[in-house]
Amino acid sequence: MKVQLLNKILEVKEQIKDWKKENYTIGLVPTMGALHAGHASLIKKAKEISDKVVVSVFVNPIQFGPSEDFNKYPRKIDSDVEICESLGVDVVFNPAAEEMYGKNKNLSNNDLTFVCPPYNYVDCLCGKARPGHFDGVATVVLKLFNIVRPDYAFFGQKDAQQLFILKNMVKDLNLDITIVPCPIVREEDGLALSSRNVYLSMEERKNALSISKALREIKKLYNDGIIDVKILFDTAVSVLDKHLELDYIEFRDFETFQPLKEVRENTLVAIAAKSGTTRLIDNEIL
Ligand code: AMP
Repeated sequence: MKVQLLNKILEVKEQIKDWKKENYTIGLVPTMGALHAGHASLIKKAKEISDKVVVSVFVNPIQFGPSEDFNKYPRKIDSDVEICESLGVDVVFNPAAEEMYGKNKNLSNNDLTFVCPPYNYVDCLCGKARPGHFDGVATVVLKLFNIVRPDYAFFGQKDAQQLFILKNMVKDLNLDITIVPCPIVREEDGLALSSRNVYLSMEERKNALSISKALREIKKLYNDGIIDVKILFDTAVSVLDKHLELDYIEFRDFETFQPLKEVRENTLVAIAAKSGTTRLIDNEIL
């Protein structure tokens, strides 16, 4: 079957209603498009465990800050549809912002109902540098859940804080959806795939490689028995290229999101840094 490209919420709902009648299980892969092998790995997992797969492609305005890259974020719907077709996706849902949020809406919480994840989970790591970002993410994801009514939703560990927040949203709001976390897909040299990597010059890309290198170094030391966060933090700083503008290196329990002084099993080690003007994130779970 050819992939269907749908722009309207009603059209998606109609299709979902038909599938539900047939008792098909539905997998949803939310994306902002400019699909790469990282997204493809989520789609492949979705195909593996669900009867029908919906990929949403939506550059969500309410998760971008006023000085962020909403306008220049890569948009490649034609090649996204081709990739989805080749992977056997059933529906690509690519709504306009007006379709998602209504015409003439001021896209702020003066005029729009938002989902606000817990302060402890958003006022740290990426949420500190990007105020309101995770409210925007949680809001659009809940809307997508209500439109697509998936049994499974697939998210990359690449965005570990997002994954953590959404897992908790599903639990806290009693949503009947299984969140399926998917491992980080990397280039051969270790760089985590990201739609934003296209912004990097050769030099910036080279410098950015030190982020995954620092994470590998931390993992190696942890495997050698070093659990002191201060030692691991200092090691990471020494590995990171001096041209990067470091935002954070954080060690968090991935069950509670509490910051740790000593690393243990299921610790999230997350790094965010700018290479040139491009903000990059990467992580390891120990
Ligand atoms: P985005 O289009 O950046 O919003 O990402 C859509 C989904 O793909 C999110 O769940 C991301 O975590 C996931 N994703 C992005 N990059 C990667 C990657 N390199 N490996 C695995 N998943 C990824």
